[in-house]
Amino acid sequence: MGTSSHKKILIVEDEQDILQLVKHYLEKEGFRTVPAMNGIEALKKVKEDKPDLVVLDLMLPEMDGLDVCKRLRSVPETAMLPILMLTAKAEESDTIVGLELGADDYVTKPFSPKALVARVKALLRRVERMPGGKPDLHLYGTLTMNLARHEVTIGTQEVPLTAKEFGLLEHLLRHRGRVLTREVLLNAVWGYDYYGTTRTVDVHIRRLKQKLPLLEEAVVSVKSLGYKLKDSDVSG
Ligand code: CA
Repeated sequence: MGTSSHKKILIVEDEQDILQLVKHYLEKEGFRTVPAMNGIEALKKVKEDKPDLVVLDLMLPEMDGLDVCKRLRSVPETAMLPILMLTAKAEESDTIVGLELGADDYVTKPFSPKALVARVKALLRRVERMPGGKPDLHLYGTLTMNLARHEVTIGTQEVPLTAKEFGLLEHLLRHRGRVLTREVLLNAVWGYDYYGTTRTVDVHIRRLKQKLPLLEEAVVSVKSLGYKLKDSDVSG
């Protein structure tokens, strides 16, 4: 229904009955769902499926909900990912720990599916209203681009870039996996009224690669078209 229609929810729950129940009610409301049966699978699916919100059971095999929560919060890419925890009454003290570790809200079992859906919607609305709800970061392998600080680092080492190099890299990171023509890059970074030629783009790509060797192989030239930053499988 309405705004929820395109949102993707990761449901992490080892009890099949509850998993199916939550899935059913969320899908009935127009959400897309991705299931995970344990903590390890949950982390993998967060990376692969990029959900908008996680419904996370506290008691899980392999790695429990608290550890999953801690892991998600420790990585900039998922630091702001909304997490709704499912807990049992007996786990109340763990619930408090969960909230301290960064869960945004929790629902106690047994719960009514309708109440759960309402909490999911409320949480998504809350995140959407938050200014800067998304961290101003782009991550690519060991590279981090911090937009707020206008800073690019490899590991902990800052790499000074000119404004144009920074803009070009940002555009590549934002549209990773897609071929960007020289014209598109020129317009995006230098502006439509810029007089230079598309060769300017080539020169700056070369400089970026000199400063950031990890781009040497990651930015590929697509014959007669332009450039593409390979979609990286950011590990770790
Ligand atoms: Ca469980």
